[in-house]
Amino acid sequence: MKPVIALVGRPNVGKSTLFNRLTKTRDAIVADYAGLTRDRHYGNGAQGKHEYIVIDTGGFEPDALTGIYKEMAKQTRQAVAEADVVVFVVDARAGVSAQDHDIAKYLRKLGKPCLLVANKAEGMTQGIQLGEFFELGLGEVVPVSASHGQGIKALVDMALAPL
Ligand code: GDP
Ligand code: MG
Repeated sequence: MKPVIALVGRPNVGKSTLFNRLTKTRDAIVADYAGLTRDRHYGNGAQGKHEYIVIDTGGFEPDALTGIYKEMAKQTRQAVAEADVVVFVVDARAGVSAQDHDIAKYLRKLGKPCLLVANKAEGMTQGIQLGEFFELGLGEVVPVSASHGQGIKALVDMALAPL
């Protein structure tokens, strides 16, 4: 069984863009893995000979604004339950938000490997601008740019390392 990587984080941080970077095919593998449910996006990816499955938790649309946080929490919990490793995506440009703190608190209690990734980090001076993410209590933050394809190899290496 391939390791399963779940992408979690608040809306608009770039999870789906990162999903597309990490996967070649999407939505094609649900039948192969009976334990996975259909209401999220799954994709296959590989780095060298290391194959993995990615879950994008952005499958919901905020139709009802009141339901968005509830639905986000549900999506996050389900994806995290299925995952071997959680990639928690934050927005390097927006900085730390209250929602990031809520998600971090939940992830810290889980006891699953969790990698903190700051997306949209293209052209940023990492050490200075990403330091604030340490307050999430999840250790080192890995800078990436999903849209520019930067830092992706390091992300996969680090995500799969504890498995
Ligand atoms: P999601 O809601 O977390 O799935 O986020 P999306 O993947 O839909 O991206 C939200 C917005 O951020 C879109 O406008 C993307 O083009 C933009 N975005 C995604 N990745 C990057 C990145 O690495 N750098 C920048 N500057 N923008 C990005
Ligand atoms: Mg999305």
